[in-house]
Amino acid sequence: MRENHHGGTDGSGPPHVRMHPPDASAQTCDHCLKELPPDRVLVAVAPDSSVVHRSDPSLDGWRLVRACAEHLTELIDKARAGWVEEQLWFGRLARASSAQEMRGAPLRQVARQASLSPERLHQALRWNAWRTEPTRQLPGGQLVPLADTSLSWNGPTVTAAHHG
Ligand SMILES: [Zn+2]
Repeated sequence: MRENHHGGTDGSGPPHVRMHPPDASAQTCDHCLKELPPDRVLVAVAPDSSVVHRSDPSLDGWRLVRACAEHLTELIDKARAGWVEEQLWFGRLARASSAQEMRGAPLRQVARQASLSPERLHQALRWNAWRTEPTRQLPGGQLVPLADTSLSWNGPTVTAAHHG
C-alpha cells in the first residue's frame, strides 16, 4: 500500500496542504523512542546529507535530533557515518531544478544554478544511478541519465573524438 503522494500539481487538490507535526509536546529519543520529560531531552544538529533546505543553502545537510542523554553521541556518530557528499549534491540539483525558471532547462544549466561543477554533477548522477531506486526525473522535468554515468565510470574511457 502506498500513500506517498509526491507533491502532485495536477488538478483539483487544495493548493496548500499542511501536515500536522506529530504531537509537539511529546519528546522522544530518536534512538530508543523513549518518551522524555522536557528537561531531559537533548537537542542537537546532526549531519544529514539527505537534507536540503527549501531555500537556504546554508542550512543544507543538517537536521535536528532529539535524544536522551545516553544516545545523543550515538545518534550523531551514526549520522556522521551515513553522510554521503554526492547525496547532498544531488539534493541541491533537485532543488535548483524545482525553481520556476529552471523548468525544462538543460541539466547542465540546472547544475550551474546549483553551483555544482561538471565533476560534481557527474558524481551526483553516478550516486543516483547506483541507488536502489534512482530518481529518473528532476522536478523541473529534466530526465536524469542513469546508464551512462554508472557504466562508463571505471571502465576504459570511451574516446568519442573522431578525427576526420
Ligand atoms: Zn535514547
